[in-house]
Amino acid sequence: MPWINCAVGMKRLLPIFAGTFLIAPLLAAQVPAAPVARPARFVVVLDAAHGGSDNGASLNGEPEKAFTLALSVRLRSLLAARGIAVVTTREADKDVTADQRAEIANHAAAQACLSLHATESGLGVHLFTSSLAPAQPARMVPWKTAQAAWVARSLELAGVLNSALAHASVPVILGRTGLPGVDSMTCPAVAVEIAPLTAAARTPGHAAGSLDDTDYQAQVATALAAALLEWREGSSQP
Ligand SMILES: [Zn+2]
Repeated sequence: MPWINCAVGMKRLLPIFAGTFLIAPLLAAQVPAAPVARPARFVVVLDAAHGGSDNGASLNGEPEKAFTLALSVRLRSLLAARGIAVVTTREADKDVTADQRAEIANHAAAQACLSLHATESGLGVHLFTSSLAPAQPARMVPWKTAQAAWVARSLELAGVLNSALAHASVPVILGRTGLPGVDSMTCPAVAVEIAPLTAAARTPGHAAGSLDDTDYQAQVATALAAALLEWREGSSQP
């Protein structure tokens, strides 16, 4: 797996909910008598995997890091056009550690994070969620396994992505694995690995359904955007 090479996070404690308890009395003294309920801002984090000195896989001679960044840019504009706020982990060809990716996602308080990968192996799109055992939310959670409390939601997100891709006639393989970066994220998070659409599309060139086929790229990106729109609608329901 390409991400096995990623740096493994340091042991740290992440005080997810600590602030809620500590500052609540102060806020209580300051809020208006009739506070207006405002829905939480819906934010998606797009994590273009690899970058800088980490090329990722070689895709017919092209580095995976370039493909993931291009997909992130394409998907960001699709989401922006649909009114979805996007935070990205990188906008250029630079090194970003697994810890930094998780820090960006956690700071954004995202409702979904897609970690984007690509491979010449397999077909269609592979959706990986963390292999951590689901855990109950707690005030303090270990940094390296913070995703444990979100695994159930991440599996739901993978299900929505799976449906949208299937609707777009893209085959999907679902899996679970250890994911440095994702394992430290405190949000629904799925690694999305794009593979060629068909076995024939693996041959070098611009065959339909190959990774460098812009129609195929658009097909996948549009399906992912549709899934995130559906996810937003589901998230806004009481
Ligand atoms: Zn990768």
